[in-house]
Amino acid sequence: MGTPLKVLFVEDSEVDAELTLAELERGGFVPSSHQVQTYSEMSEALDNESWDVIICDYRMPQFTAEEALNTLKSSGLDLPFIITSGAVTAEDVVALLKQGAHDFMDKGALARLVPAIEREIREAKIRHRKRIAEQRVKVLSQAVEQSPVSIVITDDKGVIEYVNPRFEQSMGYSSEQAIGEPLWFTFQDEQSVKALSRMWSSGISDQEWRGEFSSKSKSGQLIWEYVNISPLSEDGKSVSHYLAIKEDITVRRSYEEQLLRQAHYDDLTGLANRVLLMDRLNLAIEAAKSNGDNVAVLGIDLDHFKNVNDSLGHSIGDTMLKEAAERLSCCVRGGDTLARMGGDEFVVIIPELKSVQDVHRVAEKILHQFVNPFSIFGRDYFVTASVGIALYPEDGANPHLLLRNADLAMYKAKDHGRNRYHFFTEDINTALLDRLELEANLRYAVIRDQLHLHFQPIVNLTSGKTIGFEALVRWRQRDDTLRLPGEFIPLAEEVGIIQEIDSWVLANALMQVSNVLPESAQTVRLALNISPKQLEVKGYAEFVRTKLNEYAVSPEQVELEITERVLMEDTPVTAENLEQLCAMGVRLSIDDFGTGYSSLGYLQKYPFTTLKIDRGFVSNIKNSESAKRLIETIVRLAQGLGMVVVAEGVETQEEHDFLREAGCDYAQGYMLGKPAPLTLLKGLLEKAPAVREQE
Ligand code: C2E
Ligand code: MG
Ligand code: MG
Repeated sequence: MGTPLKVLFVEDSEVDAELTLAELERGGFVPSSHQVQTYSEMSEALDNESWDVIICDYRMPQFTAEEALNTLKSSGLDLPFIITSGAVTAEDVVALLKQGAHDFMDKGALARLVPAIEREIREAKIRHRKRIAEQRVKVLSQAVEQSPVSIVITDDKGVIEYVNPRFEQSMGYSSEQAIGEPLWFTFQDEQSVKALSRMWSSGISDQEWRGEFSSKSKSGQLIWEYVNISPLSEDGKSVSHYLAIKEDITVRRSYEEQLLRQAHYDDLTGLANRVLLMDRLNLAIEAAKSNGDNVAVLGIDLDHFKNVNDSLGHSIGDTMLKEAAERLSCCVRGGDTLARMGGDEFVVIIPELKSVQDVHRVAEKILHQFVNPFSIFGRDYFVTASVGIALYPEDGANPHLLLRNADLAMYKAKDHGRNRYHFFTEDINTALLDRLELEANLRYAVIRDQLHLHFQPIVNLTSGKTIGFEALVRWRQRDDTLRLPGEFIPLAEEVGIIQEIDSWVLANALMQVSNVLPESAQTVRLALNISPKQLEVKGYAEFVRTKLNEYAVSPEQVELEITERVLMEDTPVTAENLEQLCAMGVRLSIDDFGTGYSSLGYLQKYPFTTLKIDRGFVSNIKNSESAKRLIETIVRLAQGLGMVVVAEGVETQEEHDFLREAGCDYAQGYMLGKPAPLTLLKGLLEKAPAVREQE
């Protein structure tokens, strides 16, 4: 079968056209043709039908090859245009070829015609494909140029080769200024810069990668961006470029930060809550450290408030709490903080205290606020308050200790008959003696083999499987009393025995994983709490490495839980240890999230893999909508930062279900499993064969 060919003859001689057709048939084509010889006939033929080739006579009575060529051009079509003629000068042929004719042939020697047509049709097809490709490139580059998000293209080292106008607009840097800089040159946070450049130098591979970063525009404006980086490679070969798409999420971030801020105030009274109070107390202590002032912490508790609540109902109780909050507000000055800690407990912080006399005055004023009855729904109720006072630095060096001691002093005030205030310092003798004894015993706890570990299961909220354990230390004293870490860890930190304890915990926990668990379960995740003090010890990361080797536990299994405190106070040694631990593959988790500064900024300092939501938030699920929203936000943000989320202290089905719905990955809590010796827990793992979980 020959190839069909549609030929448009621009020709006055029918005989010549017939001859040409015969030549084409001989060459294997099955031609169909139409003959025109004027401008209008040719235009009409081009408009109405499609053609494979135009074969044009050089000179006709009413038309010329040059005019025919122009007619073809103005039609916008790209068809092979071949001139045939008897007598024509070489100059004329060259002129026509220059104008776009594709070939010339002598009517007396048409042997070249068939191959020429075949070639021209092939080339016309190539030209057609190229035109389409060019059009596509044009549309694509318009899309990039006019894109509403910033687009950056870098070479394989992360060096910018192209930025689109949107980038120039939002960052304030011109394309010339940006080209040649590293992709992260606008990033504001040094840790992200380090993380990103480290990623590049270790070969960020052919994976897609995304994260949220804060950038600084040329004019200094802070911009949050969601950045998606994907590798570009030609035909699946090695990566030649990276494409970074950056979306401005500043508005969303500020909304989320606002939500976090809302988490700083108490719903009922509008006073600061525990989170904000801790924040302020930290600040007050920092300031006092540098200027040598004192700080007073006053713990206030309403006397017999429980009776009011139980006998008169919560609604009267709440009204009374609101009024108490208002009355207490009258006792504080601008720089002071008044917070509600929960229930009927309030705390006042007085920073920059010049004289203890001032505290007496404030305490008197507080008690005075309760002289008049509370009149609620037309009835009068008398309520008094007890106040306990702790002073920085005498009564405690950190917020936890100060609050605890203010609390102890408050209980003393209650013991002495309520409606009064009591300074902690007056108890210092007895308390100090107790503490000295505790301290002396604690010093021997490790040598006397009095420490034990309990393990609490960490459960996948979707599958219900136990994926690991958190090791929690216990201290059984000589008189057989079992002390919980809350009672001795702060003291151990203060007197410098914490390293000894935490080292023992690490070694013992690893030993138990390899000795107690069946071999099939030895890949289980092991979470360990470490004190900030431990991280300040040079060479701690090496110590961990040695122990991991000794018990043949792989670094990826181990998750070190640290608190936000570490990030706020980190020393160069801390940073070095954390970096080395990360490099080894040990996972880092941020414990008790929400009790300190709750700053997401801090979380980007180190590559945390896990965030643990504090029990305080979880236990609020049942009675606070804002706690629920906050948890949802934390889960979303943490996962957005690439972390998995563990909720702590899950005690009820309601909490469990809400957390699962909120997308939280894992949970711990009495409902899912109380801390217990590992031997009692290993059965949990046997039920779950694939212990190693994928994130
Ligand atoms: P954490 O790391 O936040 O541990 C969780 C605490 O919550 C544990 O208390 C656990 O027993 C308790 N818990 C778990 N589920 C529930 C629940 O459903 N309801 C309630 N009410 N509590 C629950 P624990 O064992 O008393 O430990 C207290 C803290 O002491 C730990 O808080 C951790 O910060 C610290 N700690 C424990 N072991 C060590 C250790 O070996 N080294 C150091 N440096 N700190 C430790
Ligand atoms: Mg923990
Ligand atoms: Mg915790």
